[in-house]
Amino acid sequence: MSLNSNNRMPDTKPDIEKIPVGISSCLLGEPVRYDGAHKLNSYIVNTLGDYFDFVPFCPEMHIGLGVPREPIRLVEQEDKVRCIGTQTATLDVTDQLVQCANTQQYWHATVFGYILKQGSPSCGMEQVNILRNNTLKQDASGIYAHTMMQNFPALPVEEEGRLGDPVLRENFMQRVCVYSRWDTLQRSSLDKSALCDFHARHKLILYSHDQDQARALGKALADCAAKDIPGFAQNYLTRLMTILKIPATRNNHVNVLQHIQGYLKTVLSAADKQELAELIEAYRLGQAPLNTPLTLLRHHFRSQPDEYINNSYYMNPHPLELMLSHSL
Ligand code: SF4
Repeated sequence: MSLNSNNRMPDTKPDIEKIPVGISSCLLGEPVRYDGAHKLNSYIVNTLGDYFDFVPFCPEMHIGLGVPREPIRLVEQEDKVRCIGTQTATLDVTDQLVQCANTQQYWHATVFGYILKQGSPSCGMEQVNILRNNTLKQDASGIYAHTMMQNFPALPVEEEGRLGDPVLRENFMQRVCVYSRWDTLQRSSLDKSALCDFHARHKLILYSHDQDQARALGKALADCAAKDIPGFAQNYLTRLMTILKIPATRNNHVNVLQHIQGYLKTVLSAADKQELAELIEAYRLGQAPLNTPLTLLRHHFRSQPDEYINNSYYMNPHPLELMLSHSL
């Protein structure tokens, strides 16, 4: 992938295979804002940068607005959202920003997540200011971001401001990992056996988000004829990513932990069972983090391996998922 000098690929070599993620350039410290400033986010650069291979992009620079430039804003005109200059009413860059997002699809299709700058009339994901009937509302999306999200509805997208919330951050990182694994699956022969295996490995994660929808998705997959799998795959992905967007809950995690615990009921001593049950209960009461019962479960499954459990991404996640603090 080659991007111009304003939108360059990073040249550092990751220790692990980093996951490509698009990002608003200003968040990496590039001086591309209208006033020549940047919005460097140290957590994104210093922590997430260990796991993500960032692809920075500034749509306003790309359409030739340059630095410094007149700020732009969203205005609703005749029921349509337009992006116009704050000083020059005739400066309307809406169509250029839409076209920009459309022409960047070639690399949008190669990233597994996108971090956007909050509040930007170009990059904002949601709650961007818009002038409607002479009243300022906060319910729009930036033009570039909106077009990209329409083009790639399953792509995990988040704003830098929301990444400060540990629950939203973990949810985003997990979605990125799953979306990346989906891409790998797609590149192989996507038949029913492969999709069932993919689903089985993600089933416990899905149950931690929404048990009813996870069950329904599993049933839809089981009911799908092998010859219909290629057509079903997109529907599966949409439902998969919708479930993952629902925040995981402590109660659902407890159910998943107890389900996993059931696989050990004939092999653990009474004392080991008691210890495990106590840790799960401590987690349920908020007295221990999720990693505490998970660590003990992993320990037991090392000596008492079970193929289904050991292959699950819930128990054996990507290094990025493993570093999640499990704020629930
Ligand atoms: S928010 Fe988007 S358009 Fe604005 S400076 Fe940052 S990257 Fe460029």
